[in-house]
Amino acid sequence: MSAADRAGLKSPIRTYLEKLHATYVDLHDGQVASYIPELSHANPNWFGICVATTDGYVYEVGDSRQTFTMQSISKPFVYGLALEDHGKDAVFHKIGVEPSGDAFNSISLYPDSGRPFNPMINAGAIATTGMINGEHPAEKLQRLLDMVGVYCGHPVEVDQRVYESERSTGHRNRAIGHMLRNFEILTDDPEPALDLYFQQCSILVTCRDLAIMAVTLANGGLNPISGQRAVHQPYVEPILSIMSTCGMYNSAGEWIYDVGMPAKSGVSGGVLAVLPGQLGIAVFSPPLDQRSNSVRGIRVCEDMSQDFNLHLFHAPVVAKSVIRTSYNASQVTSQRSRRDHEEQLLQEQGHRIRVYDLQGDLLFSTVEVVLRDIMERHERLDFIILDLKHVTSIDTTASSMLCDLLHTLEAQPCMLLFSNIEPSSPFAMSILGREGSDGSQGPVIYEDHDLALEWCENQLLARYLGTPSGDAAIPLAEHVLCQGLSERDLNHLQTLLEPLSFAPGERILETGHAPDYIYLLTRGEVSVTIELADGKRKRLSTLPAGMAFGEMALIERAPRSADVTALTPVACYALPIAAFDRLQEINPSLRMMLLTNLLRHVSGTLRRLTEKVGILTG
Ligand code: GLN
Repeated sequence: MSAADRAGLKSPIRTYLEKLHATYVDLHDGQVASYIPELSHANPNWFGICVATTDGYVYEVGDSRQTFTMQSISKPFVYGLALEDHGKDAVFHKIGVEPSGDAFNSISLYPDSGRPFNPMINAGAIATTGMINGEHPAEKLQRLLDMVGVYCGHPVEVDQRVYESERSTGHRNRAIGHMLRNFEILTDDPEPALDLYFQQCSILVTCRDLAIMAVTLANGGLNPISGQRAVHQPYVEPILSIMSTCGMYNSAGEWIYDVGMPAKSGVSGGVLAVLPGQLGIAVFSPPLDQRSNSVRGIRVCEDMSQDFNLHLFHAPVVAKSVIRTSYNASQVTSQRSRRDHEEQLLQEQGHRIRVYDLQGDLLFSTVEVVLRDIMERHERLDFIILDLKHVTSIDTTASSMLCDLLHTLEAQPCMLLFSNIEPSSPFAMSILGREGSDGSQGPVIYEDHDLALEWCENQLLARYLGTPSGDAAIPLAEHVLCQGLSERDLNHLQTLLEPLSFAPGERILETGHAPDYIYLLTRGEVSVTIELADGKRKRLSTLPAGMAFGEMALIERAPRSADVTALTPVACYALPIAAFDRLQEINPSLRMMLLTNLLRHVSGTLRRLTEKVGILTG
């Protein structure tokens, strides 16, 4: 139950599910399975509905915690384990992937080879179970239980009564097992495989468990609640494909037509459905229709699919939203403070740097949009920054398309940079591990887009203004706070200042400390940063010689709100706030000049920020 539910406020989704439950609770069609005697004891009124999301939330309505046996719902999961044990080819060699259109217990084998049509009918499922690795039967069973346990997020066990009941009456399945042995699909005694199959069908789960199992498949094989991997990602696709074409036996066609989600049902009354990337749905209600699917289960899934537009082929259009914003460096500059002539130049030439703020999932259709935009503009650009901060995933195709783009641009004067790439991601690996075709290092990767932008601006400025003398100190008279000061005032100010120097990496100001001084930077560069709630450091700006820092102390007198660190050897003057205050009495015009210069500087910064916000949010 969520905090909102506890507070008495019900989510509209919960309300919907409760209504759906109320709608079908009075539907008494169908029969509880009885061919396995023990199953006939199920209460026909049991009825649970659960929906689990890929971010790990579970909605539960009705008998969501009632245990029952998985029966055929175990089949796709055991198929996944067989794929992990042997790989796709070896499994395909023994078990086909064609829907048979027959009932679950039909003996649908290819006539000459005896190969079962698919792993969802009993013949294919028994053959699949026969492939599970393990030294002895107990080990094989344990591997199955462990696997289901990871899907559910807790240990699971076999219902001994149901297992015994099926084992002693499962003559048809036993016949199928021996047929498989006859065709050498099972190469050993079929009895242990059958025994393991009866056990897997008798694993106890709840409706909630099934929803979590379903959403684990929707989530690429990773249980979104425990974060544990239940099946390797490459096998999720084959599992879901088989579920879509064969999961509902002889109603598989109608199911994918109407409901449009890979699904699996079992004779104990469970049904689960998977909406890849989004949801897992499970329904539990024992009465079955003629095709051995839960009557209420089917109705609930049909309604939900319709009401929430969950059909797989009702796909959202993703391509259009991939470029969150795109701008050039004359519209938005980096957080580095610049002297006036540099700023002027960026106004004029900044259009040669373009930043793309990308978002969402990068896949063929979204990266195609980005590539097309870049191809149209690259001749007019010197630098392109692709910022991936808001990108949620990069598939292998997108990754290689971006590598191809790098390769294409290598021969051009236009340079491609990336920012905010998760360093451990496969994409980072493929980009970082890559060398230019001329043997040069691969692309430049920056941890945030602003650093990348600053680097590009520096390159552009160097191209037009020559390499800045960097280390050179500027005279106090050229400092922003000293504009227009008379010789006399400058000399007076000088007597109040304390010269300081710092080595690269040295902390000059610390968040929370008392605001005793304002600093006038005359040589080198400092970086202004804050620590975020998650402990990461965010850079607010870089300041070159000529700028002031700690200047808010003059007005606010509040503790320092950021850290300032020397990036290069730094020389600066510290003006004690107390000395500044005394100017009120002894040199009010100097005090006024300093405040006016400060205000001009602050309002310039504010203007730029306002423009930036306008472009970034506009
Ligand atoms: N254990 C059952 C059987 O083999 C499973 C069938 C099912 O759930 N459809 O008959």
